[in-house]
This record gives sequence, C-alpha cells and structure tokens, in this order.
Amino acid sequence: MAKTKKTTTDSKAGSKAGEAHTFQAEVSKLLDLMINSLYREKDIFLRELISNASDACDKLRYAALTDGDLLSDDTPLAVTITPDKDARTLTIADNGIGMDHDELIANLGTIAKSGTEAFVGEMSGDAAKDVSLIGRFGVGFYAAFMVAERVEVVSMRAGDDKGWRWESDGRGGFSVDTDDSASRGARIILHLRDGEDEFLEPGRLRTVIKTYSDHVAMPIRLVEGDGEPETLNEASAIWARPKSEIDEAGYAEFYRHVAHSPGEPWQTIHMQAEGTIEYSALLFVPDAPPFDLFDSARQHRVRLYVRRVFITDECEGLVPPYLRFLRGVVDSSDLPLNISRETLQHNPVLAKIRSGVVKKVLSELKSRTKDTDAYTEFWKNFGAVLKEGLYEDPEQKDSILELARFRTSADPDSWVSLDAYVARMPENQSAIYYLSGENEAALRQSPHLEGFRARGLEVLLMTDPVDQFWLPAIGPYKEKEFRSVTQGSADLDTFAPTEEAAPDDAAPAESDVSRLIASVKLTLGDEIKDVRTSDRLTDSPVCLVADEGDMDIHLERLLRMHKQAVPEQSRVLEINPRHDMIRGLITMVSEDGAADALGDAAHILLDQARILEGQPVRDPVEFTRRISALVARSVKAGGD
Ligand code: ADP
Repeated sequence: MAKTKKTTTDSKAGSKAGEAHTFQAEVSKLLDLMINSLYREKDIFLRELISNASDACDKLRYAALTDGDLLSDDTPLAVTITPDKDARTLTIADNGIGMDHDELIANLGTIAKSGTEAFVGEMSGDAAKDVSLIGRFGVGFYAAFMVAERVEVVSMRAGDDKGWRWESDGRGGFSVDTDDSASRGARIILHLRDGEDEFLEPGRLRTVIKTYSDHVAMPIRLVEGDGEPETLNEASAIWARPKSEIDEAGYAEFYRHVAHSPGEPWQTIHMQAEGTIEYSALLFVPDAPPFDLFDSARQHRVRLYVRRVFITDECEGLVPPYLRFLRGVVDSSDLPLNISRETLQHNPVLAKIRSGVVKKVLSELKSRTKDTDAYTEFWKNFGAVLKEGLYEDPEQKDSILELARFRTSADPDSWVSLDAYVARMPENQSAIYYLSGENEAALRQSPHLEGFRARGLEVLLMTDPVDQFWLPAIGPYKEKEFRSVTQGSADLDTFAPTEEAAPDDAAPAESDVSRLIASVKLTLGDEIKDVRTSDRLTDSPVCLVADEGDMDIHLERLLRMHKQAVPEQSRVLEINPRHDMIRGLITMVSEDGAADALGDAAHILLDQARILEGQPVRDPVEFTRRISALVARSVKAGGD
C-alpha cells in the first residue's frame, strides 16, 4: 500500500502550522469525484460517518473486554450529532476507540479497503459514470467531502493521553497536529459548503438519521442548541428482535448499513437458532455484486457478535468463501466473550454455527429458484462464486448442483438447471454433456457441437474459470456423469440424427478413409496422439479432441494462461469424411505424385483444428507456404 508523503511545510488546508501530508493518489482521485460530485443523494455521507462512529464504539467495547481501563469513565458509548448554524458546521462525535497520530495518517490518507480500491480501479474519469458508481458502493469517510469544503477530525485513541487534529480541504493533502481539546474517540467536524445548509436543520437531520440508523446498535443523539441530547434511534440489535416486529424497510435499512451499499437486499435471511447452540443471524444476499467479489483474498463480510458485542468482521471460519457475497451479522451467546480472534477459527461452536448458516442459506436460495427471473439475476451475479463450493464443500455438493444454472447449446436465452437438462435428455443418453471455453459466443460456434446438434442432443456451455476446478472431480449428478464433448470418443452413433440433419450423401468407403488416415498419421508423427474419423462433426472438416483420461483442452489453455507448468499434451485429430476437403484428399491418396501435397494438407488439417480451438498455428511461415502450395496446385488442376 502506498504511504502518504510527508513534508515539513505548513499545512495546505489549515491555517495553523502542522505536519503536512499528501494523499495517496487513489484517495485524491476519489476526493476529486466527491468534491465535484453530482450525486444527488448526498445524505449518504451521514450514514457513512455514523457507521464509522458506531464501529469505533463497537471496537472500544471489544478492546475493553481484555483491558477494562480503556472504558475508564462510565459515560455510555454513543454517537452525538451537533449542527451549529452560526459556525455552519456539522459535528459527528463518538466516544469510541479513536485514532492516534499514525492511525489518522494511515486511515484517512490511504485507502484501506480492497473494496474501495476496486472502486477507484473501476473509475473511468467520466464524472457522470463514476458518480453512478457511488450509488452502488459506499465510499466511507471520504463521502464527507460531498458536503464539506473542509473537514477536521479531532481524535484521541482510547488509553492515550495525547489528542490529534487531522484537517483537510480534500485537495491534495491534509495536515496533522496536536490538539489539546481532544477527548477519547473522534469528532468529525464538517465545514459545510455553500448550499448545504439543509444539514444544519434539526428536522432534516432527524429524518435522515431516523431512516439510516434505527437499527444501529449504538445510541445516536442529536443536540439542538443548548438543549439536552435527544436519542433518535432504538439502538437495539435488530437481529435479536422478533421477526414480526421488523418490516421490509427496516431490514433494507440495516442491509444498507452493514453492506455499505445503497441498494436493496435481493434476499433477507433472518434466523434465530435455539437448541444446543443459540445464535441469531441476519444475512443478506445483495442485489449487485460487490467490487471485491473476485479478490484473491476471498474474504466474506459477515460480522460476528457475541451477546451483542461486536467481535470481528474478519472471522475466517464463520462463512465459507463460496458464500462471501453475503452481508450481515451473526450473534451467538454460546461463544465466550473474551475469545481471541486467533483461536476463534478453531472453535467447535463456531463450526456448528457455520454449518447451520450454510444449510439455511442454501435452502433459502433453493426456495427462491421458483421465481425464475429473479433467481437468474442472482445466479448471474453470484453463480460463479457459489460454484466454488462444488469442490470446497463436498457435503453441500448436491445442494449446490441443484442450485446451479447453465447456458446450453439448445437455447441461447435460457439458463437451465441440471434437473431440467436431465428431464429432457433422450432415454439412451447416459451422460451430461458439456463444452468449456472462455466465451459463450465462441462455444456456440464450436465444431464440437455439430454432431450433438445434428442428433438433437443438448450440451451445457461452461465459461466460468471455476468450472475447470469442479468438473473433473464432481462425480455423477443423479447417476449421470458429466462428460466433456471434447474428450474421448463421442459414441454418437448410438443416437439417430434428426431428420433435417440426416446426411443425404453416402460416406466415402471405409478403406479409402483408412488410407488417408494412415497417410496423415505418417506425416504428423508425434505431433498428434491419433487420427480417427469423427462422428461429432457435420460441417467442419476437422477438430482436436482430448483422449479419454487426458487433460481437457480448455483446462490446458487456462493453466498455460496462468503460467502453470503443463506437460505437452498430445491430442487426437478427428476428421469428417463427408467434408468436401476430406473427400478431395481421399482422392489424392490414390493419385501418383501427390505425396508432397498430401503432406502439406496433413499439416494444414492440424493447424485448422488448432485455429478452431482458438490456438495459434504452430509455424505461421510454413502454414502460409503450405496453403499457397495447395491453392496453387488446385488452381493449376482447375486450369488443366
Ligand atoms: P471503512 O470504515 O469502510 O473502513 P472509511 O474510509 O470510512 O472506511 O474509514 C477508514 C478507517 O478510518 C476506518 O476503517 C477506521 O479504522 C478509521 N475511522 C474512521 N472513522 C473513525 C472513527 N470515528 N473512529 C475511529 N476510527 C475511525
């Protein structure tokens, strides 16, 4: 992570001398967007700052479990919001964990979250487009600059006795200085821009805060003038309340709070488990994929509480990586409060909670499959992630296979379940056929599908990289094996061609085909494993297939793309004897003086097959020479 740069000149932002720092480049980009933001729902800044403040209180409560001195006074933890019309400032204060000098610089000068980093990565520079991204993604503290021309953060870390002031106008840099007025926690002071006076109106603030924070577990208080603080929210843990007391809007607001997402939950799962282990979980499936979904860390974002005390949002064993799209909380009264984050992972209670959560989530997903359109949306967003469970969680393999949806050669617009696929299989079809590759459009054109289409057989199209991991190891689904159409012999002759696909010309005599095959084999030698006639081709002259037991061709390419060492794979070349080109070559075999041309043709056949697989020709110079020679020969023959 890039560090902020420190200079010894006076602060750009403040008038007082302080340590001046430059923002990390990504932060500057984000701030430019915030400052020039045309985003209309500006009040999200308040949600972000309240979330941070309540998180800071949560963190202090957790830290105080092991160091009681940190919560030295008995003032209750709370978030206090104070508008000041004269000074035109809005202050969001908390008495939580606070930040020291270095934390202020690291947390409010760089981008700490991979999600935010991904957000910046997605930014196009086109303000209108980027602004719409804000709507899909919470941008945290920096959202303050949508309404403030200057922001001060006055903070003291719990347990310290020295306070600090961070200050910035959001343009390039910030300053950090000592501040004697600081007390434990953080005070975010927003100096509002012209035109943002609505955020000084108690009525307006009350409405915004009420919608955003009713479910926040910390009390949120509004201070008007010299009056007493007024607590605006229920400050009860929404997940611990009976379902009957919570309406959809309440759930949706909590979702936006925990997910840092302005959208709607696609599915809300609220469970309260009683019995040997007690826990409650309030989980959401988002309506759009979060930016960090395919991060290599594969981290979930479900927060763990023990008896309403926030413990961590990085508890590895709580939710498996293949459900990392979930947002929400799990709260258990059966875990010890003072459990260290390190030992959590191996706690048997946690393992039971995880297994209960997984089962519940999968069964809720199953119940949503009836709503085909909505379910398809879910699948498009998260299917590739869920499929990771097919090889990571053998226990749930069957449930996940039932939830899986696939593209198919039969109908370009639909997503089919395995049950639907199996139900429409002809009686004598014993395997589930699939074809894998990088993109669906290319797969639909693949010569490998020709013979299957001609016999009315449906083939599933696999285009997610993860498919290459689960397919080889998956075993049968309802007694049907998965079978790649590019692997082994296709055995298609047990299926009758459909009427319109039935060939109307006779195939060349088998002995003639065998002579051509022998000649091609002789020429290509070790470059191929075998040459044989194909029943999977109807229109194309050739294709490459993997022999039974060999590595799938697409998997080989994928591994090479990821720079994995893959031993050279020798492939089987299949030829289509009914194709005019092959018929021509069969004639050539019995001609005198055609040996050179036949040799060239054999090489061209192999290169053609490689091109159809999306692979480069082996030697472009030789390839071109051979094509030219063959064309010249046929032009000459035509002229004779
Ligand atoms: P996020 O909260 O999503 O991590 P932010 O940009 O909102 O991202 O905040 C960055 C970090 O700054 C937080 O993770 C937290 O460590 C720190 N921070 C923000 N606000 C506060 C606060 N009120 N008290 C203590 N730390 C805070």
